[in-house]
Amino acid sequence: MDQCLFCRIVNKELEATIVYEDDEVMAFEDIRPQAPVHILFIPKKHIRAMAHLAEEDARLMAHLFTTITEFAAQKDELDAGYRVVVNNGNDGGQTVDHLHLHLLGGRRMGWPPG
Ligand code: 5GP
Ligand code: ZN
Repeated sequence: MDQCLFCRIVNKELEATIVYEDDEVMAFEDIRPQAPVHILFIPKKHIRAMAHLAEEDARLMAHLFTTITEFAAQKDELDAGYRVVVNNGNDGGQTVDHLHLHLLGGRRMGWPPG
């Protein structure tokens, strides 16, 4: 996926403030933060969207979620809670076609979301 923005970040062709990385996942700061903490967690494997997840991705997704919980547990700003968001498709507000989980925190979140 040569042209995919987040694949280019994975391949270090585009700069990002990377806060976590292992063989399968990467986390970096969102370029337009919507909260004091706004980190994007992605699988390194190109998956277009949540709607494109397959059963074979189950272990990878479990790893992605536990990576978030372990990261959040170490961040004092997130002691009072946080939100994890996946936007899927146009109406879901997805703007980058590489599956990503938003970790948002450091302030009280509103509900319902916009
Ligand atoms: P979506 O709207 O698809 O759920 O989220 C895409 C997110 O990626 C947005 O919050 C946007 O600010 C972020 N983003 C877009 N381009 C870049 C980029 O080049 N670098 C980083 N770090 N974040 C980006
Ligand atoms: Zn990609």
